[in-house]
Amino acid sequence: MSKNTKHIYAAIEGGGTKFVVGVGHSYQDCVISTIQTRSAHKTMAEVKRFINETVADGHLEGIGIGTFGPVVVDPTHTDRGRILNTPKIGWRDYNFVTDLGSEFGVPVSVQTDVGAAALSEVAERPHCRHLVYVTVGTGIGGGVFANDRLISGSMHPELGHIMLPRHPDDKTFQGACPFHDDCLEGLASGPAIKARWGASLSELAEHHQGHDIEAFYIGRLCANLVLHHSPKVIVLGGGVMNTPGLLAKVREHCHDALGAYIAALSSEDAMEQLISAPLLGGYSGLRGAFMLAANNGH
Ligand code: ZN
Repeated sequence: MSKNTKHIYAAIEGGGTKFVVGVGHSYQDCVISTIQTRSAHKTMAEVKRFINETVADGHLEGIGIGTFGPVVVDPTHTDRGRILNTPKIGWRDYNFVTDLGSEFGVPVSVQTDVGAAALSEVAERPHCRHLVYVTVGTGIGGGVFANDRLISGSMHPELGHIMLPRHPDDKTFQGACPFHDDCLEGLASGPAIKARWGASLSELAEHHQGHDIEAFYIGRLCANLVLHHSPKVIVLGGGVMNTPGLLAKVREHCHDALGAYIAALSSEDAMEQLISAPLLGGYSGLRGAFMLAANNGH
């Protein structure tokens, strides 16, 4: 970055397998590095080195982070930025805000990865004020944006662990979540698919019943989100959702699950408007982290 450049931001999307870091004036004008996720100590040493080298003698204004959770996102909490009870080795109790704040001396804004993605997907849609972003991949999580803000209570939502009825042909699978027998993540995440059928969904034959079972669970998630939050758009991202044909099947299952109860959603067109792929592809989270950096979390 050139000397005396104004408004350089660092954006970090922290995932279970990789950290994507962008440094620059904006998402459209940034240098990106992808760093393998190891322990917090090793991963963040690389993240900090990349930011320091890229900012060089420019002026860093702020840092925005969208990370895997659970993480304290409440801006008034004294532990803001701290990773809570994660099974990821070497991450429990790591605090992004204290570590990066002391390294760089700039404001650090923290959200979940899906919360950050929800922010950017809303920004891509004029007049949209109610949106849920869901990732279906190694884990399942969701960020809920309603009335112009991300929703969080005592902590951020944990949509991945809602309880669902079993698909009629999926009664015996023990589930992949160590905490729950019948939660969404345990039944429909990438590891659950692998554990059940020994392959990813896109590797299964087109008519394998795994496609219908997966769409059944994600469709019910969407129906529950409609009933709970009444979003205008549900964005479905994550690696599993790249499976050809899955999005259309999810719409059918959501429609079936609602049973025409919500009149405005009783047509195929309405379902297409409601359930969408990310407009930013795989970069929703990084773009959202830039927004957090530039707005200092507001
Ligand atoms: Zn669970």
